[in-house]
Amino acid sequence: MSEHKKYLDEVKSKLLKRKLEIEEILISLSKEKISDDQVQDLGDQAITSAMEAIRGSYQNTEHEEYNMILKALKALENGTYGVCIDCSQPISEKRLKYYPNASRCLACQESIEGPIS
Ligand SMILES: [Zn+2]
Repeated sequence: MSEHKKYLDEVKSKLLKRKLEIEEILISLSKEKISDDQVQDLGDQAITSAMEAIRGSYQNTEHEEYNMILKALKALENGTYGVCIDCSQPISEKRLKYYPNASRCLACQESIEGPIS
């Protein structure tokens, strides 16, 4: 097994692990929501809606990460993971370590966002 293949396998198992974690969070969040609704008190309406807003935004973050993981896993399957979408050059493993979902190499990313200090 080549070093790169080994590295991709590591990434994949990390992504799968994180995917399961998020699935658990999302499931527990939706369970929580159901039990809250059952003890709904009109007097607590304001607090409830505030909490809904907080929970909603948290859930969105989880959903966003979840979608990114699904995308990365698909790219791994297709063999396009870690390849820059702009210049088709491999993205450095160092960069992928910090940005597992990076779809551009550092040079291309900088040309879009400006130099990263
Ligand atoms: Zn590039």
